Amino acid sequence: MSVTAVAGANWGDEGKGKMTDALAADASFVVRFQGGSNAGHTIINSLGKFALRILPSGVFYPGVTNVIGPGVALNLTDLFQELDALTARGISEPRLKVSDRAQIVLPIHKQFDELEEERLGDRRFGSTKSGIAPFYADKAAKLGIQVADLYDQKRLLERLEAALTAKNILLEHLYHKPRVNAQLIAAELGKQAERLRPYVCNTSELLLQAVRSGRPILVEGQLGALRDPDHGIYPFSTSSSTLAGYAAVGAGLPPHAITRIVAVTKAYSSSVGEGPLVSEIVGPAAEELRRRGGDSGEYGVNTGRPRRIGWFDAVATRYGCMLQGATEAALTNLDVLGYLDKIPVCTAYGINGSSTTQFPVSAIIGSAKPVLDELPGWKADISHIRKFDELPPHAQNYVLQIENLIEVPVRFISVGPDREQLIVR
Ligand code: GDP
Repeated sequence: MSVTAVAGANWGDEGKGKMTDALAADASFVVRFQGGSNAGHTIINSLGKFALRILPSGVFYPGVTNVIGPGVALNLTDLFQELDALTARGISEPRLKVSDRAQIVLPIHKQFDELEEERLGDRRFGSTKSGIAPFYADKAAKLGIQVADLYDQKRLLERLEAALTAKNILLEHLYHKPRVNAQLIAAELGKQAERLRPYVCNTSELLLQAVRSGRPILVEGQLGALRDPDHGIYPFSTSSSTLAGYAAVGAGLPPHAITRIVAVTKAYSSSVGEGPLVSEIVGPAAEELRRRGGDSGEYGVNTGRPRRIGWFDAVATRYGCMLQGATEAALTNLDVLGYLDKIPVCTAYGINGSSTTQFPVSAIIGSAKPVLDELPGWKADISHIRKFDELPPHAQNYVLQIENLIEVPVRFISVGPDREQLIVR
């Protein structure tokens, strides 16, 4: 049995949580490999509605081992809050393993994220202010704290002092804020380390053994391909790779083990925060789609921010599927479009008088205008349908047109937020 990756083809919020929850039924392991608690997955199943930010989406299956890999930005406060929130709602304590090499998001990372967005003013990136960019900056600068460092007080203090030297100068002289003290942070981390201890292990060995013994593994990406720092809408990207290919690195898996890649895309576009969104719509049409979208409108799971809305963008999604190396696609939220007479789809970008289906670089994308084709709407509630052939012909046609445009077979069609509201082709 191979490793399956579930990854976003767009800007995030594509419905990966729902798809991972559905596919996790057949998995022994569900693994997070990048990002932190800066974005949320919404999961709705027979146990209720849940917003997960850091825990892998396999936590609702008692037989699944959930793994937080070395590539994750681990905020311990958020992790424990999420675990407590689950158990408070009667969910049994999930099986959880945390990599001893994962690095810790510190309160100072969050503080720097907030201070920097405030300093940038109009030039801000629309960060969720969870400390992710300062965290990955420290990791690249070799100033990060690994989980294993938490169990050696002397080393922890030395690592913290190294990480804080330059930050304290910036705090004092750039942001005009009080300095922070390494010993206080070490004491707080020491308490959290005790609670974390039972979960900590070498997750790469664990997963390698699982691969060797043929146990099914699901790796779940956070955000989407267009937020990838190398290939996405830089600098409105995130700070770790959002691509399935990175799962090998961030989870510690043999690259050849990842043989199935499900790219998740929405039947329309949505994006939280700043940055280019070529097929964006505004005004009453956007308001209506935002209100009808998702399980209770298109508002950020983590931040509550209204998501920006647009028509399906085949240029961005074909590119996103290509980057993910998608072997198949999952099209979510198809039910949401059931109110429209005609459904515009962005099939190309017009740039300086010519048309292209290739996703442009950030220096050019600002001048791109959407080329829209209209497809007929089906004007029906499809949320109860479980077979492709039973969808109204215009809904089938919408799926087939998208499949043609993105050049990846659409294997899953999601017609509602619940686990069961899924058509498998
Ligand atoms: P993720 O970060 O990719 O997991 O996506 P989010 O959870 O942030 O956003 C997806 C939203 O769409 C959530 O509100 C889901 O409950 C909802 N959702 C997922 N699939 C469907 C679907 O097929 N139809 C509807 N109406 N909502 C869906």
